[in-house]
Amino acid sequence: MSNNKSKSEIESFDPEVYASIQKELTRERNNLELIASENFPSTAVLEAQGSLLQNKYAEGYPRRRYYGGCEFVDQIEELAIERACKLFGAEHVNVQPLSGVPANMAAYFALAKFGDTIMGLALPHGGHLSHGHKVSFSGRWFNIVHYQVDPKTELIDYDVLLKLAREEHPKIIVAGASAYPRTIRFDKFREICDDVGAYLVTDISHIAGLVAAGVHPSPVPYADIVTTTTHKTLRGPRSAMIMCKEKWAKNVDRWVFPGIHGGPHMHTIAAKAVCFKEAAQPEFKEYQKQIIRNAKTLEVEFTKLGYRLVAGGTDTHLLLVDLRNKNITGKDAEEFLGRAGITVNRNTIPYDPQSPFVTSGMRIGVPAVTTRGMRESEMKKICELINEVLMNPEDKKIVDKAAKDVKELCGAFPIYASL
Ligand SMILES: *Cc1c(COP(=O)(O)O)cnc(C)c1O
Repeated sequence: MSNNKSKSEIESFDPEVYASIQKELTRERNNLELIASENFPSTAVLEAQGSLLQNKYAEGYPRRRYYGGCEFVDQIEELAIERACKLFGAEHVNVQPLSGVPANMAAYFALAKFGDTIMGLALPHGGHLSHGHKVSFSGRWFNIVHYQVDPKTELIDYDVLLKLAREEHPKIIVAGASAYPRTIRFDKFREICDDVGAYLVTDISHIAGLVAAGVHPSPVPYADIVTTTTHKTLRGPRSAMIMCKEKWAKNVDRWVFPGIHGGPHMHTIAAKAVCFKEAAQPEFKEYQKQIIRNAKTLEVEFTKLGYRLVAGGTDTHLLLVDLRNKNITGKDAEEFLGRAGITVNRNTIPYDPQSPFVTSGMRIGVPAVTTRGMRESEMKKICELINEVLMNPEDKKIVDKAAKDVKELCGAFPIYASL
């Protein structure tokens, strides 16, 4: 809160919006944020994102714009591209996509036409809406064949995938997920694509930070096109980018602009540049390693308490907890934990008997709490708190005590002190 500052412009002019922003700040400070797709970017990233660069129209690409006055935003976009190429070892990068879904749209159209066959991981098995769900553009405009995880191992079975690909002759196979706790074998996906003559698009939205730090294998050597958001483990602004082999550069750039976007958001591109610089620092690598250690600690602790983890555990930043043996639905778990200031999301588990609105699982991610500086001992505490609440959701005393502990824990690992 601006206790040592004069009143901000928003505060003076629009107290309603200001009040809600302050409440959100307080919520972020005082709650345990365990949503796997969320994070707390640095104030440097937020500053770039909130900067006057947003005023500038710059349709086109650096040095090839359709507007005058682009000399400084050109420098920024070139920096962002250069840093992203270096960070991921990519041949070509487009930093203009506004978010993950349009990045995927541009990637599909760069390689395929309306009605072509695309294979993607089914949503209830960890995939994303934009990987072919029928309510998404991807499911409406392409012929989608979904692959699933194995019912026993809950892992992608690459032999089954190959067999399916040989039958379906997809134009594109999409590898990537929003709720898959284990390592994705991009090398295997490449072999399968080569076998059936398909293009490989990999969507690393969730794991981009892990990939940048080298704690998850990179798809960049294998994929025709790699898409990613920049605001999840990568801890940048809410946005996305596309990396590709040089041979797809023109197609990708044309599909991003003018294909599906207008003017690029130069403030967000500046924030991405800052994020890529941060991600190249040794501290960032350490942060990503700590994410893995923290997730592993939760794996051990939840297992000790008798929770079943989908795919038996995690290699990444997230865990999927199957709550069926505890007789709790995902929906209830989300609500109960919310009462104690612990934020998770309900999530389908593979072959979930419950509806997608209710679900049998909860997804737990550690990127945000790890950004706060929490480590293994705090993970143990978090697991205890979650268990306390889930086992005693109607016991007000227990829930209140957990809420108090959550607040204390957050207080010991403050964020955004300067805001
Ligand atoms: C989050 C996510 C996206 C979508 O990103 P938006 O920025 O919300 O459009 C796409 N793909 C995957 C795998 C994701 O996890």
